[in-house]
Amino acid sequence: MEKIKKVSRHITQNEPLLFERSRPGAVGYKLPPLDVPAIEPQEVIGSKLLRNDDLEGLPELSEPDVVRHFIRLSTWNYATDLGMFPLGSCTMKYNPKINEWAARLEGFTESHPMAPESAVQGSLEIIYLAQELLKEITGMAAVTVQPAAGAHGEMTGIMMIRAHLEKQGNARKKVLIPDSAHGTNPASAVICGYAVETIPSDKRGLTDLAELEKRMDDTVAGLMLTNPNTLGLFEENIEQICKLVHERGGLVYMDGANMNALCGITRPGDMGVDVLHMNLHKTMSTPHGGGGPGAGPVAVSATLEPYLPVPLVVKQGEQFRFDYDRPDSIGRVKAFYGNFLVLVRAVCYILSLGPDGLKLNTEAAVLNANYLAHHLRNTYEIPYDGKIMHEVVFSDKNQLKYGVRNGDIAKRLIDYGFHPPTMSFPLIVPGALMVEPTESESRQELDLFIDAMKSIAREAEENPDLVKNAPYSTRIGRLDEVSAARNPILRWHPSQE
Ligand SMILES: *Cc1c(COP(=O)(O)O)cnc(C)c1O
Repeated sequence: MEKIKKVSRHITQNEPLLFERSRPGAVGYKLPPLDVPAIEPQEVIGSKLLRNDDLEGLPELSEPDVVRHFIRLSTWNYATDLGMFPLGSCTMKYNPKINEWAARLEGFTESHPMAPESAVQGSLEIIYLAQELLKEITGMAAVTVQPAAGAHGEMTGIMMIRAHLEKQGNARKKVLIPDSAHGTNPASAVICGYAVETIPSDKRGLTDLAELEKRMDDTVAGLMLTNPNTLGLFEENIEQICKLVHERGGLVYMDGANMNALCGITRPGDMGVDVLHMNLHKTMSTPHGGGGPGAGPVAVSATLEPYLPVPLVVKQGEQFRFDYDRPDSIGRVKAFYGNFLVLVRAVCYILSLGPDGLKLNTEAAVLNANYLAHHLRNTYEIPYDGKIMHEVVFSDKNQLKYGVRNGDIAKRLIDYGFHPPTMSFPLIVPGALMVEPTESESRQELDLFIDAMKSIAREAEENPDLVKNAPYSTRIGRLDEVSAARNPILRWHPSQE
């Protein structure tokens, strides 16, 4: 039995590199016999342009070799098409296939970024529509869709804040950031030349107003605030916060990565925010595990509109064109016009749902997080148990007395068929397990997750070693994490087994 198990796993789990699978002479194509005289390549392109470096060593494989290689690798992956992805902060929801269909339409995939405006009116209309729809959703004055990710949007936004303050005569020195912020916030501020000062959270997990009052002086360019914050809590004093920052000459940057909790319900523009980015790959559907592609559009108030990157897409009569005539612009932040096909998906997502659908999604996302919180509250500690929005942050405090930590719980979840949640973030929660179910999950799926979490809590109590050595169902079990970080072996070969 043991032997059969090993052999059957061998096919999918011991997959070498394509280079290692190479079989000399194997080919993945068949051409008809030559019916014209053969000529040497240099006769056509000249020997000067011919590569003369050694092309030996490229893998030689048949079509099934290649197809099986990639399909086998794909079975090692976990995906939202397979099951729930309970990450916190990075919204990882199911991506409706209609958006993939739209992004694969030939007119979009084949349109060239250097094509003249007149030849790509449809693509320009999509960019224009994306700008307009996001303006309406955020309640802001104008939008650029150029930035390629959330962090890129943050940098773009802070550059605009700096440009505006510089134009007024003083760029100021610091940016205030709450201690629950995503790590990209301080990084973006520093890249734009600002020092970062941390604002502590109060007992409820919200921005401490008294601290803000104390630190918001004329050396501060602005505040970077995530709303709802990374504890999944709505910053209910947001209007007061914006007012205070504005009165003292600063601007408010809102990290809008958590727009999945707000879409169709409330608008950052109405709260008094000056600039925010959205993560279309999170909120508006694009598969983004593994690092890309993304889109981090930035929406601004009228104050910051002159500084938006060039070009914007504008509509003149029935024609769409690029507007480069923006003298105060911070310039271009990305080659061409952003990750265009992510914009196609987002526009399709928004239009296929409509205003009511967007609102319903938001309500379902918030309801789902509260459903998890309700059923797991007696099993796992919720350190900041306020008005939970789209995500809930548990801790491992109740399991720690059996020596079981958040990482053990996360790895044991793999054996139950779930992707692990976000761990050890936000930093203000020791042993954090941050879960965002999103609107994608049905009650049945949520119940399976709740069952798994409760079962793991029971195991932690009765047999902590079982949890501490998980996972057991994966290609590679528990790693020695210190050695893996200090002495990484980045190449694996069957002969090393
Ligand atoms: C994901 C995220 C970011 C960064 O966005 P990227 O697209 O990964 O660069 C910033 N802030 C918050 C709160 C996030 O969740």
